[in-house]
Amino acid sequence: MSNTFLGMPALPVYGHGNLNATEPFPKAAHRELGNDQLRANLGHATHTIRDKRLRVVSELPDWEEMRNAGSAIKNATMANLPVLLEQFEANFTARGGIIHWARDAQEANEIVTALIRETGESEVVKVKSMATQEIGLNEYLEEQGIAAFETDLAELIVQLDHDKPSHILVPAIHKNRSQVREIFLREMPVVDPNLTDDPARLAEAARTHLRKKFLSAKVAVSGANFGLADTGTLTVVESEGNGRMCLTLPETLITVMGIEKLLPSWTDLEVFMQLLPRSSTGERMNPYTSLWTGVTPGDGPQNVHLVMLDNGRTAALADEMGRTALNCIRCSACMNVCPVYERTGGHAYGSTYPGPIGAILSPLMTGIKSEENNSLPYASSLCGACFDACPVKINIPEILVHLRGVDVDSKRSARKIPTQMDVIMKAAEWAFSSGSHLNILEKGLPLGKLVAGRDKVIKKLPGMGAGWTQSRDIPAPPTQSFRQWWDKEHQPESGVDHQSTTPEGAQA
Ligand code: SF4
Repeated sequence: MSNTFLGMPALPVYGHGNLNATEPFPKAAHRELGNDQLRANLGHATHTIRDKRLRVVSELPDWEEMRNAGSAIKNATMANLPVLLEQFEANFTARGGIIHWARDAQEANEIVTALIRETGESEVVKVKSMATQEIGLNEYLEEQGIAAFETDLAELIVQLDHDKPSHILVPAIHKNRSQVREIFLREMPVVDPNLTDDPARLAEAARTHLRKKFLSAKVAVSGANFGLADTGTLTVVESEGNGRMCLTLPETLITVMGIEKLLPSWTDLEVFMQLLPRSSTGERMNPYTSLWTGVTPGDGPQNVHLVMLDNGRTAALADEMGRTALNCIRCSACMNVCPVYERTGGHAYGSTYPGPIGAILSPLMTGIKSEENNSLPYASSLCGACFDACPVKINIPEILVHLRGVDVDSKRSARKIPTQMDVIMKAAEWAFSSGSHLNILEKGLPLGKLVAGRDKVIKKLPGMGAGWTQSRDIPAPPTQSFRQWWDKEHQPESGVDHQSTTPEGAQA
């Protein structure tokens, strides 16, 4: 007899592809922190975008109301996702598009490959797309003998350098223009040998390189920023116009979109077209916004496909606290204000999704028990800057704490021998459970002075504490606690003026 009862919910299907880190965050971050050039590039770029964003956001008196609206629309979308997905499918199909459903990265890659094969082509042009990076489409296509050419300038730089993106909006944020010049000279088949690092000259070189591809490509692959359920419309928002060339010139257009990218209606787009450009590039309006609804005979691609990707999104949706991470519109504002991201850069996170949103989205999609990703929720100081900047008000710090809790609980239940942290936490639980327990512990305070020595600082702690003292000293603990001082000062017979006396080294 089967142990599976009919009607039982299936286990969550977690995401694969480029969502998993290959090493824990602390190890990767330690290595990246040693790269001075990277830190200088990142510091300059994130501060520039951050300042621009602040300027344009402060122009709008109703920015907070706009954020509330964005958050409410996305929450309503997630609460009603199954219905909206069916509505979107019906409208997209009615207008001549074809929908394919992909459970995970492997299925999505296979579907896209089969669709390209049907056309008989072996080259495709690509619009910048997080979803296709997430599933590792370029690598998969290469294995199948299909060449994919990135057309977004920053994506092109990363692809030519055989590197990985390190920022969701500015994938080559870790490179400066002289590094870009070197990459172009080294990797472009035809390039002016006198190319300088002037941005206009670099853009011109990229334009010349890409123009031939645009004019010859028969198939394009894109992502989508939004899918509008009430009309079956797809949207791509970009800054260079290269995306529009991909979306209009080829005969076949294959779009890969995460199932969470829906908005209920066309009118909802109004809110997001104000939130997104101001939060991402710090612009009042987006330079190129392309919208398409199915097939228009004689105009644009005549074969229009959409691969709807799950790859762990349903698993994230099942997490009551974490599901708001799916509200993300990939603006990157949280990255640009994050002190951890600014110093470590995107590669330290391992996943396609770096920064504060990556620290919650990747473990939610792969499962927090995934060994590679369970250090990501700790990649934060919990300062809250990401929450303040997020245009759809995702409470990233709250979700980080929630995921840390899930991680700690799952590890604790799996081990038989307590760790140092278990012992410390158990001792803390005992000490803070009653005043008399705390009194006993506080009697040991003078010992701290002995450990600290004459200069009154503790330079080296044993065990887990060694990580803390590796880069900072700890002041010697006071000889008496606040509670001890208070009791002494409030002895009725002491006759001391309580207002004017200060405790020597006492701490609350
Ligand atoms: S979490 Fe918010 S701020 Fe970060 S990328 Fe997503 S929408 Fe933007």
